[in-house]
Amino acid sequence: MGRVYNFSAGPAVLPEEVLREAAAEMLDYKGTGMSVMEMSHRSKAYEGIITEAEKDLRELMGIPDNYRVLFLQGGASLQFAMIPMNLMKNRKAAYIITGQWAKKAYQEAGLYGEAVAVASSADRTFSYIPDCSNLPIPEDADYVYICENNTIYGTKFWKLPDTKGKTLVADVSSCFLSEPVDVTKYGIIYGGVQKNIGPAGVVICIIREDLITQDVLPATPTMMRYKTHADNGSMYNTPPAYGIYICGKVFKWLKNQGGLAAMKEHNEKKAKILYDFLDGSRLFKGTVEKKDRSLMNVPFVTGSEELDAKFVKEAKAAGFENLKGHRTVGGMRASIYNAMPIEGVKKLVAFMQEFETANT
Ligand SMILES: *Cc1c(COP(=O)(O)O)cnc(C)c1O
Repeated sequence: MGRVYNFSAGPAVLPEEVLREAAAEMLDYKGTGMSVMEMSHRSKAYEGIITEAEKDLRELMGIPDNYRVLFLQGGASLQFAMIPMNLMKNRKAAYIITGQWAKKAYQEAGLYGEAVAVASSADRTFSYIPDCSNLPIPEDADYVYICENNTIYGTKFWKLPDTKGKTLVADVSSCFLSEPVDVTKYGIIYGGVQKNIGPAGVVICIIREDLITQDVLPATPTMMRYKTHADNGSMYNTPPAYGIYICGKVFKWLKNQGGLAAMKEHNEKKAKILYDFLDGSRLFKGTVEKKDRSLMNVPFVTGSEELDAKFVKEAKAAGFENLKGHRTVGGMRASIYNAMPIEGVKKLVAFMQEFETANT
């Protein structure tokens, strides 16, 4: 049995080398005689794993010393609550609504204070990123929130919003480590790792030190205070130990690929193959405004629901998995994260070409 080309939006494709390495270490991690799944998170061996993972991530992203790296649980969705609980000192925050994940974060923040929607692209089914050069950000807003890459709709902020001096908080779940990033522009960068880095169950939160305070909303659970995790090196309780181990392997893999600049180049090349085909196709059409296109998630349609379904079915039979669009938007979506090889995209395009010829 061979491996398929997996275009899933998440959990998603991981580098085959990483999976093979993990398989080889499954029964005996480096002479410990046990699997990483079986060892104490307080052991020397595990301490090595999590310390090395953080060190490699810091190196990859160039994370400055005044930022902490936290390995957390609860998915990106738990951050939707944790962010306002920890940051809403004035009980007010500005949200830019560019899709379903941003909207969910906005709605959650509304449970804790006033969440102000300062921009939205809901009017055209989130197919673009709104102009964020002069937003009506309230004077007393504690932060400005964005979802930087919109997994479902396939848009990406190529220019960060002008936050007018307010702290920027970004959900980067689906573009994590896909390109170099200037961490200093953000107060918090966070993401669930199951899109581009590792197994579901781990959330990485990179947070500027001054945002980690005692001064959180009343009754914020201990487990939902950034300070709890920062003070304990992400080991207040048992961390998602095996997941962090796999993330660490992916960080090493990324370093071997040449780091984030090389990754960006590779991702641009892959995305161009698919977008160029879509732009010239008689049958398939991209759904996103060109200037806002994501390098990671590429939604497209034929214009006919029947043909869409036929395409997804025939693609699956040919070894291209998970091309069905999100249940709320329909059509197709190819997620082409870091670990998707360029041959996967080339072969998909060749298959789309054949399908087009046979169906037009
Ligand atoms: C998948 C996704 C989420 C939700 O992640 P969970 O880990 O399932 O909570 C949030 N934001 C973005 C951008 C995503 O792609």
